[in-house]
Amino acid sequence: MPAAAHVVSQNANPLETYGNFDLVKRFKLDFADIHVSKWKSRTSGLSVVHLDYDAPLVNGYFVVGTEIFNDSGCPHTLEHLVFMGSEKYPYKGIIDHLANRGFSNGTNAWTDTDHTAYTVSTAGEQGFLQLLPIYVDHILYPTLTKAGFVTEVHHIDGKGQDSGVVYSEMQGRENTSGDLMALRMQRLMNPPGSAYRSETGGLMEALRVLTVEQIRDYHHTYYVPHNLTLIVTGKLASGTASLLDVVQNQVEPSIVEHGQNKGPRPEGWKRPFVETPSADRKPLKTTLKETVEFPEKDESVGELQLGFLGPPPTAFLERKAIDILGLYLTSSAVAPLNKEYVEIENPMCTYIYFSEDTRATYVDLPVYVGSVPTEHLDTFDEKLKASLKRIADDGFDMDRMAMVIGRDERQLRSKLESSQGDTFSGNVITDSLYGSEDGKDLAPSMDEINMYTELKKWTSDQWAALLRKYYVDPPCIVVRGKPSGEMADRLDREEKARIAAQRERLGPAGIAECERLLEEAKKEHDKEIPTEILKSFPVPDVRSIAWIPVQSVQEKHGQKGRAPVIQSNNTELAKHIEQDGVPLPFFVQYDHVKSDFVTVHAYFSLEKVPARLRPLVSVYLSAFFSLPVKRSTGELLSHEEVVHRLDSDTVSYEVAVGVNGLFNDAIRVSIKVETGMYETAIQWLKDLVYGVQFDKERLAVNIAKIQQSLPEMKRDGDTVLGSVNSELLYDETYVPRMGSVVPMIDFIPKLAQQLQESPADVIKDLEEIRSCFTDPAGVRISVNGNILSLKEPRSTWARHFGKALPESELAHYRLASDMLSPVGKRPVKKAVVVNLPTIESAFVTHTAKGIQGWSHPEYPVLRVAIEVLNATESYLWRYIRGSGLAYGAHCSLDLEAGFISFTLYRSSNSIQAFKQAASVIKGLTDGSISLDETVLDAAKSSIVFGVAKSVSTPGRAALMSFVNQGLKGVSQNYNIELLEKYAHITKEDVIAALKKYFLPLFDSSTSVAVAVTAPGKADEVSEEFSKIGFEVERRTLQVEADELSGSDSEEDSDSDESR
Ligand SMILES: [Zn+2]
Repeated sequence: MPAAAHVVSQNANPLETYGNFDLVKRFKLDFADIHVSKWKSRTSGLSVVHLDYDAPLVNGYFVVGTEIFNDSGCPHTLEHLVFMGSEKYPYKGIIDHLANRGFSNGTNAWTDTDHTAYTVSTAGEQGFLQLLPIYVDHILYPTLTKAGFVTEVHHIDGKGQDSGVVYSEMQGRENTSGDLMALRMQRLMNPPGSAYRSETGGLMEALRVLTVEQIRDYHHTYYVPHNLTLIVTGKLASGTASLLDVVQNQVEPSIVEHGQNKGPRPEGWKRPFVETPSADRKPLKTTLKETVEFPEKDESVGELQLGFLGPPPTAFLERKAIDILGLYLTSSAVAPLNKEYVEIENPMCTYIYFSEDTRATYVDLPVYVGSVPTEHLDTFDEKLKASLKRIADDGFDMDRMAMVIGRDERQLRSKLESSQGDTFSGNVITDSLYGSEDGKDLAPSMDEINMYTELKKWTSDQWAALLRKYYVDPPCIVVRGKPSGEMADRLDREEKARIAAQRERLGPAGIAECERLLEEAKKEHDKEIPTEILKSFPVPDVRSIAWIPVQSVQEKHGQKGRAPVIQSNNTELAKHIEQDGVPLPFFVQYDHVKSDFVTVHAYFSLEKVPARLRPLVSVYLSAFFSLPVKRSTGELLSHEEVVHRLDSDTVSYEVAVGVNGLFNDAIRVSIKVETGMYETAIQWLKDLVYGVQFDKERLAVNIAKIQQSLPEMKRDGDTVLGSVNSELLYDETYVPRMGSVVPMIDFIPKLAQQLQESPADVIKDLEEIRSCFTDPAGVRISVNGNILSLKEPRSTWARHFGKALPESELAHYRLASDMLSPVGKRPVKKAVVVNLPTIESAFVTHTAKGIQGWSHPEYPVLRVAIEVLNATESYLWRYIRGSGLAYGAHCSLDLEAGFISFTLYRSSNSIQAFKQAASVIKGLTDGSISLDETVLDAAKSSIVFGVAKSVSTPGRAALMSFVNQGLKGVSQNYNIELLEKYAHITKEDVIAALKKYFLPLFDSSTSVAVAVTAPGKADEVSEEFSKIGFEVERRTLQVEADELSGSDSEEDSDSDESR
């Protein structure tokens, strides 16, 4: 029986229409309360899909199929230009100002190889429906001006250097190992004439010669109503009708005016990919292997990609089976390929990952292999293929397979509970590109729960046949990514030479002309958005948002009351807890929400762990779930049994420091299970913490894995920035600092050596860490999920933890502000400039003193001020991203540490970006830039979305309740209560806060800075920092890991032509 038969309670009447729209398909999923309907306009060919379910957020995905046969980057550049204004709303960024007013955090978009999706989420439906026609006007009728192209795509700046938002973005990507290898793979997998070969993002070389006319032509061909699908997920008060009304009455008339009312299939239209030469994909004839170099001074490890051709995109069951097969092979430390390649003393790689890319005719099945020692790079694919053949020959471990299927199903159910219909937005996007036009593929593509039922019946032979069919027997493409120090130097040299030649070609007059064009373009964008347009877009009422109710009860130990605290909304839960035995001697908070699951979190304070052991904490955590365990029952489990049983019993498990970046002086162990497995989760928690056996061999494997992943980590500008910044601001007791990449480069090889020479000492240290963090005073437990359905919510804890956690006074957790370095305590004058050869742009953070504490009275005004600066299309965006100086720029507030910071992400000109930010904030404070009331309104509305989103699922709402009461010591609904305070913040309040807290960020006498930059830019950045008054320290991260002990080596400044 075809899988489709299960899923639908079909009631599609083929004649059903709504105005211009015909119903293509309607169904309800049989395993979730989600109603799906797909409609198509007879007039314009526009498609509308609504996934209808109860939820506080409404999401939109507006999808265009974007086929292109070159690397010009038209699809991606067009994506950016859509936000620069439309026919009816010809103002740059107006769409985001309006989105923010409508309880959103702005719009967003992405461009893949085969489509561009425009997205927006709002709290409640009002803002969404108001915004929809305006958004579609931008997509179908953007202004596409020359000025927009100049700033947003590409220009040459006053120094003769190439810049622009898209240009900077691609500069940050193009020469990374991932992009270089992916592009090579695309070229090898697809024949000439296929659009799947194209870099839709645009290669830098192509972007430098691209014109706005080319983009306009591209838009004219592909951005047509019959190639656009509006996907909406969430609740609309009057159902799908309200959506169709808006489209029919406010979108279609404009389409008709433009003469685009030519129906679903105008003369000559070919559906992208499906009806073009791109669909002509044939099985590979022979195996092809190629090596791609990428710039990296550390040549110790490379990467690998294998490309296989899969089944047709509509073979849903087979695709799901292939997905499960990948999990069987690689999903944990005891998966067959991990055991063979990763979990060994000299790992052959740090991960193997099976993926899928949807394509016409056949899907692609790429396999990614990370951090392969260079000496194994050329032979790895043969070994891997031999292993896959052996696994197929030996047959499958059907116990493991049952576990993998069961676990994947639980995870899907858990995702369905939190994301609901949004879980399937990807399926609908894919269907709009590749699905049958009569809608018959849509329901089967979502029928995942029933696919599990089918797959549970498969035999070992069937799985082996699947493995052979797609991965063992057919030829494949192998792309090896090889690190090359020489290439890093060459790229640097070539880029400098290219810029020099460009300057020469342009001459001073030419460069001046470029600068004039840029200034003119910026001026055009500065055209004020008329206030009346903004004000005509009503701000919805906060009271229209339906918050998810959480019942909360806390048992405090120590002398302060032990009985549950009765609050107005928790009577039922309090009673339920009280009837279950005596109060517990330790701290537990129960947060009840409607759910099929329950999660137990245990927090253990690290306060007692001595400083010398703190670098070891992250190693402990990385080995946490892959060590042997002695259970409370006396049973001894090997690490393989631990992983297998945990995977069988749980939905998910995790160990980390802190929660959401806060409370990093505590370890958190979290286990999520179906409610029926509550006691099992508590048992595991107990045994994993107290019963772990520090086995030398297993530790060696874990340490070797970390060591091998370090080179890949230190290639990433953002990761290195975080690490160096942490070293600057925090002392050596701050665990996130000690566990970050830069100190690890030094620490891990020494630890590996120590483990070989004196394993007992390492094990003793780990035992000591455990005995420190299990001190009863530092333990806090949080239970969240469906607690009312648990028979023994309280006594189960007494049974398993009663002895381990005797009554004691509850200790406070140390905060980040207790662990500052001398520079962190007094952040002035110091700047660190790190030279990183693997990046071509810059990542920068400036930090100054802010406010400390969650209930600080100035928090509401600072929160609004930050939103005023950061909001999409607001000041920082306009002046920095809008001028093409960086891909991202934002300010942030750290209430725990007491810092305020300004961060630049992928900046092509970080000094200019810094100066711009400084002048904007100065301008706002001295009145030379006016702060409009509408900006303030938009900022406040945007905060509403942020708060709504943070509690938009049962899991998030329950977690927030715990973090607020159990850790921060504020009220349960603190975040929601603050909304009222934000509403009263005035323009004058914001300006005063900018003056007091944000101006110091741009003054070297009151701030510090860390910049991680491409080698070619390090000199200039250092000099400019010195000029502003910073004392600059230069660092470089490029030599082999084991030579790195003296990592502060001064960089010799070579010829400096960038001045
Ligand atoms: Zn982009």
